[in-house]
Amino acid sequence: MSTNVRTPLMAANWKMHLSVAEAVSFIAKLHEIVGTPQDREVLIAPPFTHLWPLREAMTAAGFSLSAQNCHWERQGAFTGEVSLTMIQETGCRYVIVGHSERRHIFGESDAWIGLKTAAALVHGVVPIVCIGEKIEEREAGLTEEVLRRQLTAGVEGVSLQDPNRLVIAYEPVWAIGTGKTATPQQAQEAHAFVRQWLAKRFDKAVANGVRILYGGSVKPDNVDDLMAQPDIDGALVGGASLQVTSFARIVQFTRSVKNG
Ligand code: PEP
Repeated sequence: MSTNVRTPLMAANWKMHLSVAEAVSFIAKLHEIVGTPQDREVLIAPPFTHLWPLREAMTAAGFSLSAQNCHWERQGAFTGEVSLTMIQETGCRYVIVGHSERRHIFGESDAWIGLKTAAALVHGVVPIVCIGEKIEEREAGLTEEVLRRQLTAGVEGVSLQDPNRLVIAYEPVWAIGTGKTATPQQAQEAHAFVRQWLAKRFDKAVANGVRILYGGSVKPDNVDDLMAQPDIDGALVGGASLQVTSFARIVQFTRSVKNG
């Protein structure tokens, strides 16, 4: 299932890396190399402390700003947390929800991820909902079951008419930061499964419009093959997004064959 209407979204997840000064110079350099692309969207998710200082440069470059996490409550006694109202105030259009490091290092549950997704939609911030199986789950043939469970908890409860309000990131846990990338075929199979799930839960128009990103050791030398798959609409990039020339090359992927 595929259409060419989905604008590719090339997203950098900086995790807990780079100083504000390094980030400012990264953005200037990236803009110098890639300009403001009209046929693809460039997104950067820096640490929370960088959102305000980067806002102006990101807007001027035409890049989208994203938070890496959020809390679902508007305000309250939640020491160390950041609300979507606060995130929205910084000019963020997106928020990453349920990244595997949040799930596996910080113990975030599927239920929390559902609350975050719903709250982001209420605040007009586009959630990038991350899902993906562990290696033992893949080896046990449970990939689809895991994706179904994570989609159900993360997205089932929301109402969605505009497909641009939601992004899904398929990130097999075994491929994140490991140098092991899913083959384009493995990624395509998972993406097609996600799109079918979206069609059942919402409708075909929504399913055809929602962008599904692949994440897991995306690099300059594998991005073109991944982006050639009909249901891969972009990339969520960790390690390779920290070097400006490497991320610029990823942004400048070329899509040889896109079926459909
Ligand atoms: C990520 O952090 O979302 C990610 C995919 O990391 P990496 O590209 O380093 O595997």
